[in-house]
Amino acid sequence: MTDRLDPALAARLRALLGPRGFLDDPESLFVYQSDALTQFATIPLAVLLPLDTETTAAAMRLLHEAGLPVTPRGAGTGLSGGAMPSPGAVVVDTSRMKRVLELNVEDRYAVIEPGLVNLRLSEQVQDCGLFYAPDPSSQMVCTLGGNIAENSGGPHTLKYGATTGHVLGLTVVLEDGEVVELGGIHGRGPGLDLVGAFTGSEGTLGVVTRAIVRLSPTPTTVATLLGSFVDLPTACRAVSGLVAAGIEAAAIEAIDRLTIEVVEASVFAAGYPKDAGAVILVELDGHPLDVAHDRRRVEAIFREQGCLSYEEAEDAEQRKRLWRGRKGAYGAMGRISPDLYVMDCVVPRSKLEEAIVAISAACAERRLRLANVIHAGEGNLHPNISYDGRDADELARAMDVAGAIVRICLDLGGTLSGEHGIGLEKQEFMPWLFSAEELALMKAFRAAFAPRGLMNPGKILPTPRACSAVKGETTRFHDRVLDGGDR
Ligand SMILES: Cc1cc2nc3c(=O)[nH]c(=O)nc-3n(C[C@H](O)[C@H](O)[C@H](O)COP(=O)(O)OP(=O)(O)OC[C@H]3O[C@@H](n4cnc5c(N)ncnc54)[C@H](O)[C@@H]3O)c2cc1C
Repeated sequence: MTDRLDPALAARLRALLGPRGFLDDPESLFVYQSDALTQFATIPLAVLLPLDTETTAAAMRLLHEAGLPVTPRGAGTGLSGGAMPSPGAVVVDTSRMKRVLELNVEDRYAVIEPGLVNLRLSEQVQDCGLFYAPDPSSQMVCTLGGNIAENSGGPHTLKYGATTGHVLGLTVVLEDGEVVELGGIHGRGPGLDLVGAFTGSEGTLGVVTRAIVRLSPTPTTVATLLGSFVDLPTACRAVSGLVAAGIEAAAIEAIDRLTIEVVEASVFAAGYPKDAGAVILVELDGHPLDVAHDRRRVEAIFREQGCLSYEEAEDAEQRKRLWRGRKGAYGAMGRISPDLYVMDCVVPRSKLEEAIVAISAACAERRLRLANVIHAGEGNLHPNISYDGRDADELARAMDVAGAIVRICLDLGGTLSGEHGIGLEKQEFMPWLFSAEELALMKAFRAAFAPRGLMNPGKILPTPRACSAVKGETTRFHDRVLDGGDR
């Protein structure tokens, strides 16, 4: 593995991409060392910022000839280390490819470039009565390419599904520079579903340079409801009540007392009741009669569960404010500690309360501060662990509780990730969920796309072979953080 780009290759890449498309000065490379999982960092050899598929393909051919690994990157908001450069890698940053290439209102799709910021797409199509449904809380900055690679979700995934349900076709540059088209405007069509397989592959199969995405009609009526509860377990019981009653909400989100406190003291203040132990935000959308019917049922279930207060957003401005608190929650956490470990696990919705109680106990045992943000309608938990990484003991406790939380969720019949992916962070837990045969199958599948293993090596799969092309060692994220990483 080299830690410097060959000067002749650097000159060829600079000539191909232009001065704004090729970065290799230490200051620029420094900012690419991590994504939003900041516990770990690796400086890349160089960063490429191509403007189109053809230039991306030409650059990838050069890197392939040189046997160099590639880490694709969008906005770097990923929370599992996917966009952290693999050791010895060149980063391909798609953020300059951000155009909407085609908008087809009649057939409700858009052809976009991967660097387009998620929210910008909905803004650009709203006058046509359309929106792009997947809405990660980072949607103000994260890119659609990153969303596709992570199969991102968001509060409204409950009704509309995660990104995979909204991708019709992809243009992908493979590790050797070959350009392949997967799917198309008619969706995935007959044959094996390669678009589905690519979505969520975390940069390990190729670089997306263009995508055809589904647009959805803007709902005619929306109602946003807020209930406050004495504590999070009680709120979880109310969520179970909503699910059991068959209420088809667009979103059901829950946050706990510490999150409320932090949000209300920040610029994201939403007017959540400060004396509450938890709040649940429910959004209903659709036909006015259905929405009116369901809002009465939601209120009744909240009251049965002894809610402390209940309110409905009266207009779009108030709705925006209620969501601002929820979507700004992670940002607001910066107020309470220097470091935050945002975890992502899933349990069956009926096990939410049990999971919350066990996770709280695991954090209390390790003297760690826990704040909970939950896509409750889907059983997708985000335990946020505050810690100070400068304190070795506290760092060790934070890394340790991660494994305990994963174990709790798996033992309750859950899974490793709801939306943040496996990346570097969770690869060591993959054998807890998948058999050796299943992992071998995933590896073989990856090799069909990237036979030399040059696409984002060392991510997702836990075996040494997964990263042997460049590293020859297994990555154990939590141990490597404690060892001081590559910093
Ligand atoms: C405050 C905050 C809130 C968040 N909320 C949510 C949420 O509600 N739901 C959710 O799902 N996630 C959430 N996330 C996580 C993150 O925003 C998503 O994973 C998002 O999809 C990452 O997009 P990005 O452009 O930042 O991608 P990056 O972080 O740059 O990359 C993510 C992965 O995608 C790969 N990749 C990027 N672009 C391409 C491409 N063009 N081709 C191939 N591979 C590519 C990278 O190699 C990496 O593996 C949140 C993060 C933060 C910081």
